[in-house]
Amino acid sequence: MCEFCVKHGEGKKWYLQAKNYSEDLLSDARRRRFIEDFLSDTEDLERKDQRIDSLEKVPRPLRGLIGRMISRRMRRDHFGQVVPIEDVERIFEMMNSIVRIGCICRHVTLGQEKRYCYAISIAPNGGKLGQIVRGLDHTFLSGPDVAGREVLSKDEAVAALREHEREGLCHSVWTFRTPFIGGVCNCDRSDCLAMRCTMTHGIPVMFRAEYVAEVDPDACVGCRQCMRVCQFGAMTYSPSNRKVSIDQRWCYGCGICRSVCAKDAIRLKERKTVPAAASRW
Ligand code: SF4
Ligand code: SF4
Repeated sequence: MCEFCVKHGEGKKWYLQAKNYSEDLLSDARRRRFIEDFLSDTEDLERKDQRIDSLEKVPRPLRGLIGRMISRRMRRDHFGQVVPIEDVERIFEMMNSIVRIGCICRHVTLGQEKRYCYAISIAPNGGKLGQIVRGLDHTFLSGPDVAGREVLSKDEAVAALREHEREGLCHSVWTFRTPFIGGVCNCDRSDCLAMRCTMTHGIPVMFRAEYVAEVDPDACVGCRQCMRVCQFGAMTYSPSNRKVSIDQRWCYGCGICRSVCAKDAIRLKERKTVPAAASRW
């Protein structure tokens, strides 16, 4: 169980708790303001990204202290967790509104609109979250009209996620002031600011999944397709037995490696049942 499952999920997976998608949580004025600022002020995000990059020049003990402060603050405001596609499907099942929007990280890192993010709400027509998303002038995405925001059915959203999975993107669920859950994203290590912050700079702003992967050595034929898509460096190939294995200490449990394995040799297990990974978040 990650820290959020304990705090906000009553010992179950926190992102499957319907109360965390509640309209009541969104009626908190600070939370609404946070979402509006986050979605509209990309320059602020760019400045934060540059500040995090510049931390590399700071002496190590001070960098560690600043990193812990950033991580603590992010846990309160906008934190994420890697989720395999079957759990995203369960999240979508609870939703009454799914709106695909341009990814703000990619706007900052690539200067392009890439529609990899999904604003989700349990309220009909998106409720207040939908109003916020629809009401924003996303000129940085596609102009002031509403063309940049696509309302998707649950089936359409799952089909889109499967497409992202084929691209090797890792699914994640995000808070907009914890524990309110406002979105599902599809991340990669080079363009996603959160993954860069977590993996490159060692400042966690997202938890690992509640799962880890394992390879069935009898089924594996050593084609290494899975290694090509693992963004977390958790897989190794052994030339002696021509098999791939997973170091579960480093596995984030995204499950993307499964989607390219033609031999169906990879399974996800609950993280808590794997001693080497159970306490690693
Ligand atoms: S994709 Fe499947 S068969 Fe190929 S190396 Fe990975 S686990 Fe083995
Ligand atoms: S080994 Fe773990 S981290 Fe790597 S792709 Fe598979 S599930 Fe994701």
